[in-house]
Amino acid sequence: MELFMRLKPLISVFALSLMLTGCSKVQNAFMDEQVKDRTDYSLITDQEHVRVILCGTGTPQVNSPRGQACTLVAAGGTLFLFDAGENAMRNLERNQVPVSAITKVFITHLHSDHISGLGGVINHSWVNGRQGPLTVYGPLGVSGLVKGLAMAYADDTRFRSMHFVPHPELAFAQAQTFFFNRGVESVRVYEQNGVTIDAYRVDHRPVDPAVGYLLSYGGKKVFISGDTRVSDLYLGALQDADLVVHEAINSGLIHQAADAMRRQGHAVEAQRALRVLDYHADTLELARLAERAKVKHLVLTHLIPSPPNFIARYLFSKGMADHYRGIITIGEDAMDIRI
Ligand SMILES: [Zn+2]
Ligand SMILES: [Zn+2]
Repeated sequence: MELFMRLKPLISVFALSLMLTGCSKVQNAFMDEQVKDRTDYSLITDQEHVRVILCGTGTPQVNSPRGQACTLVAAGGTLFLFDAGENAMRNLERNQVPVSAITKVFITHLHSDHISGLGGVINHSWVNGRQGPLTVYGPLGVSGLVKGLAMAYADDTRFRSMHFVPHPELAFAQAQTFFFNRGVESVRVYEQNGVTIDAYRVDHRPVDPAVGYLLSYGGKKVFISGDTRVSDLYLGALQDADLVVHEAINSGLIHQAADAMRRQGHAVEAQRALRVLDYHADTLELARLAERAKVKHLVLTHLIPSPPNFIARYLFSKGMADHYRGIITIGEDAMDIRI
């Protein structure tokens, strides 16, 4: 079924080969090459490693070349998707992820840039042959989200199942809501085949609840922060983590940009830029927290402002190494990390 996804670009290649050669053998060779299954099944067969694919390192900013929030973790033969912002499917395809094997999605909070691609993930994984139900885990509100998407996709499901897609009952996700008891900062939300996932409260106020997720497998720990200001709330999750995929904002650059906007008479835009500072993770504060927790590798995502080139990337993480001795990586879409 995933063949269906690859047909569109074929048309131009096929037409070009036809025009250039008129030779059916060449055309067949072209076509054979194009439809070759390039799906990376090692993501579900490799039991030894934990793989982390950044399927979206951007923010709500829609004109960014980066996809919105999305991180895929493969562990113990299962794929776990953390958030699904706009372009999640496009980036999963780009990394040859077997999308029909995605059956577990974890939502950190209900800001649009973390959920706007979820409908596509549920729908595409079904159309491409998903064999089991897809569960969406999340804090309070996730059930309404899943119900709303089911309403939005009801007609699509009816049309597709009338045409050729089997198992319309799999076209809709099921929600798994978890709650925190008073005074408790983490809750186990998944445990199967040696993989555990704990949700930790983070501080993204006024967005509440908002969580990060700690995945543990084979003695390896990966934490995905979601959106948060730097806080001791989730220090326990970071402790000795092998990999932390953490959102980041460079406050210094945002202040400089706001000054420049004001100089050019854009006071409202300057105010808007400064408004996000109080609920995202300042790069230098994050470096200090990662050092305290002895994080081994810190990967920055949800980058504000999005650095478009190597000079901007240098400026983005400037000063962090003065506070943190581990590895710092500025995340890019399609980055594939194996631990
Ligand atoms: Zn966000
Ligand atoms: Zn957010």
